Amino acid sequence: MALKIKLKQNLRRSILRGHPWIYRESIITPSDAGQKVQLCQLMDKNEFLAWCIYSPTGPLALRVLSLDSKAPKAEFFKARFNQALNLRKSFNPQTTNAFRLINGEGDRLPGLICDIYNNVGVLQFDGPACKSFWKNPMQLEPLLDFLKNTGFIKSIYEKMRFDEKRESGIKNELLWGISQGPEIEVLENSMKFLVNIEDGQKTGFFLDQRDNREFVKRISKGYQVLNLFSYTGGFSVAAGIGGAQNVTSVDLAPEAVQACSKNWELNSLNKASHEGICEDVFEFLKKDKRKWDFIIVDPPSMTHSEAQKALAIKKYTEIFSQAIKSLNRHAHLSLSSCSSHINFDDFQEIINEALAQNKARAQILRISGQGIDHPFVHISHEMRYLKFVHLFVTKLD
Ligand code: SAH
Repeated sequence: MALKIKLKQNLRRSILRGHPWIYRESIITPSDAGQKVQLCQLMDKNEFLAWCIYSPTGPLALRVLSLDSKAPKAEFFKARFNQALNLRKSFNPQTTNAFRLINGEGDRLPGLICDIYNNVGVLQFDGPACKSFWKNPMQLEPLLDFLKNTGFIKSIYEKMRFDEKRESGIKNELLWGISQGPEIEVLENSMKFLVNIEDGQKTGFFLDQRDNREFVKRISKGYQVLNLFSYTGGFSVAAGIGGAQNVTSVDLAPEAVQACSKNWELNSLNKASHEGICEDVFEFLKKDKRKWDFIIVDPPSMTHSEAQKALAIKKYTEIFSQAIKSLNRHAHLSLSSCSSHINFDDFQEIINEALAQNKARAQILRISGQGIDHPFVHISHEMRYLKFVHLFVTKLD
């Protein structure tokens, strides 16, 4: 008999409309719930409402799996995995073999991430409860079966989250197939990148910026480009292949700067037209007096909580404003934020303020976000976390 949990608050409408999360204060936890992460039935009064993943710890108590009264078993999960694969069938493996195959709640598979790097699948779980659920053989076996049956996956790893890595020192675990890595060569719109699945950020690469890198590639021709927070050079290589006169990449992490130069050369770009600088972006912008035709700014998330939002807005405004100072009188500017606490309206306001501080005007050429392999649930817009705005800036004096 599955655990039954009753709703305390009237969230029926929101759940029926597809909201995937229920916080602990909204439920009555029965005394027999125990300390195990498990499948449960969510009840509204005495009526069945949904099948959920129950977590005994943390503020997020339930993640909705299905509104169908039938208990979700192997076939249910396989159908969801296949739907996720089907949504990504437009990727041509001859030109793009790096993509997110499963995007958690966005693919109605709560807390489960699976990124594909050529023939390697990398799993990551959104916290210990989701890890315990998806690594339970009842779920893990159908998942591994599905991945093996895709035909293009030769190895499946679990990448530990940052806190787990710090505690155990273990970076990843091979769950199936041949041992590979840590560097996997991938293709993104025919550009080549080395992805480090052990030490890289997230699962190794920021796949969510694919379409925006393609845009940067299209417009870079002839420009002197500055890529701030360059990581392994996704935007730098895109600008280089797009015909930029030269590209300068700035990142604080020495491994990232090295990887960026390696990726530049991997794409047969002229070594002399790229400079990798290992420095704090704020320090770099204060010191460097060059002016640029095109600056790309893609900082790390400045806030992981609503409480830090005001501070994050201040920091984004400061970096963007500094970047605008370093632009030529007429120049291109790509700005990004991956913080889910900053929405598109907040972001536009940050941009307006940074422009005003520099007496600048802008024409917006593109507003976009994550690619099609990062779908989000229509009812929870906080999962639309990535913002990318491209401007053509004119300084008034
Ligand atoms: N644009 C990249 C992703 C950027 S991730 C891409 O498309 O792949 C953010 C990067 O910012 C990380 O590589 C991190 O090392 C770097 N970083 C964080 N704080 C920094 C700072 N103060 N100065 C320079 N780089 C910083």
